[in-house]
Amino acid sequence: MAEEKKKSRIVPKKYPMPEQDPKERVRNFNEVPIGQDKETAILEAKRCLQCKPGPNREICKDGCPVEIDIPAFIKELQEGNLEGAMSIIREKQNLPAVCGRVCPYENQCEGLCIVGKKNEPVGIGRLERFLADWERNEQMHGKIETPPSTGKKVAVVGGGPAGLTVAGDLARLGHKVTVFEALQYSGGVLVYGIPEFRLPKEIVRAEVDFIKKTGVEIKNDFVVGKLDTVDDLLEEYDAVFVGTGAGLPNWTNLEGENLNGILSANEFLTRVNLMKAFRFPDYDTPIRVGKTVVTLGGGNVAMDCARTALRLGAGESIILYRRSDAELPARREEVNHAREEGVKFEMLAAPLKYIGDDCGNVKQIEAIRMKLGEPDDSGRRRPIRIEGSNFIVDCQTVLVAIGQSPNPLVPMTTPDLKTTKWGTIAVDAKGRTSKKGVFAGGDISTGAATVILAMGDGKRAAKAMHSYLMDDPSWPAPEAFEKGAC
Ligand code: FAD
Ligand code: SF4
Ligand code: SF4
Repeated sequence: MAEEKKKSRIVPKKYPMPEQDPKERVRNFNEVPIGQDKETAILEAKRCLQCKPGPNREICKDGCPVEIDIPAFIKELQEGNLEGAMSIIREKQNLPAVCGRVCPYENQCEGLCIVGKKNEPVGIGRLERFLADWERNEQMHGKIETPPSTGKKVAVVGGGPAGLTVAGDLARLGHKVTVFEALQYSGGVLVYGIPEFRLPKEIVRAEVDFIKKTGVEIKNDFVVGKLDTVDDLLEEYDAVFVGTGAGLPNWTNLEGENLNGILSANEFLTRVNLMKAFRFPDYDTPIRVGKTVVTLGGGNVAMDCARTALRLGAGESIILYRRSDAELPARREEVNHAREEGVKFEMLAAPLKYIGDDCGNVKQIEAIRMKLGEPDDSGRRRPIRIEGSNFIVDCQTVLVAIGQSPNPLVPMTTPDLKTTKWGTIAVDAKGRTSKKGVFAGGDISTGAATVILAMGDGKRAAKAMHSYLMDDPSWPAPEAFEKGAC
């Protein structure tokens, strides 16, 4: 009843998030949303009805893969207790400033918000971001209690969201954790993939530093499979978690794909983010974008490429996507931001081949119009070619952003680790693999997904690893991981 009364008084829209002007921001790499102030965050928190979950009633927190007690932290914020709110988030969340920015909350917590049934949902993501930023800026990172040591040692392979979550959770349970990360910086896609204007690297560094404060050691520039293998690690560690992600680019395999000027999204974004090509010549990483850049794909990766291309000086940045706007898998906010910045969308169109000039540089894409048929296995309507509708797009750069596959090195160098037909590591519901003592999670076991799903996997695996190390060393038979069984 009280809830009904509150509902009738609800402010229908989220309080606005200040943003850089599109005309301005398209010329810089600074973060696009500027962040809310305390007064606005508290007003936003007051839109929350403090709903109680019921047997047949899902609410916000049922949609959070890391199980943050959302109503509880919002209640503290409503009362102006920022420290209390943040400590509730910290109970479950290792990367709050990251998730507050890039989590696809519209499909997670906010997708289940009761206010969202008739109005805009409570801006849970932006509240999380506000609190995490407040904590960092005010240097309120609380003292981290170090629990008594269990005497157990854990190796984590890969320092992305999945690996960092496992590392942080296990360290807080008293295990000695070492992360082995191939790159010189930790954070996985958060540092090499997602651009600065969506996720400043300084924020990722601060989150990684916080995890290190829990006692986690990180060994960078350490490629497992090239230096030590998982088997080598098992000689020194009591358990191993593999969170090596999905960083292997998919290609279109169309005629002409070897022409100069055609790059995978991965290479393009890594050059810009990790190797700072956007600050050339201060950093000696060259990157060339032509007058017209075409990005193939419709996910977050494609939006990041198309928006980065504009910031690097492209006169025109076009997304070529084979389905329609409604099927775009990217977060809606990213699509809107891309449009505001002037990215053009060539929808219901697919490439057929790349055409080069006499010097071997790409100069055109031949494409074809598509229409939508019946839904396919993914539930989205299948794109079908409209024969004879071929057309040409002039371009000097093509960025291929049509998905990534699992990194194959660890499975290739770990003989008894079973994989699925997609090349992902086969795991059970606890993240256990076919090899005793080895757990896996994140994109390497699900295929390319999202930050928060990778973290949810990490959380589940950390729980199971703790139980394996402390009281239940039982393990399923390898046959349980045969193709299709998991
Ligand atoms: P990763 O983040 O890939 O981390 C794996 C880590 O393992 C890497 O650091 C890698 O260097 C390391 N590694 C690999 N092999 C080895 C080895 N042999 N030895 C040691 N280390 C190794 N998701 C969202 O939720 N929101 C977004 O807005 C979003 N945008 C994205 C934009 C881009 C450009 C990309 C590429 C992805 C985006 N995603 C987004 C997806 C999200 O980033 C991933 O799902 C998530 O990072 C997966 O986490 P992970 O820990 O499993 O893997
Ligand atoms: Fe929502 Fe993501 Fe934060 Fe969970 S981590 S509360 S799903 S924004
Ligand atoms: Fe608040 Fe929405 Fe969660 Fe209800 S479902 S407690 S309104 S955030």
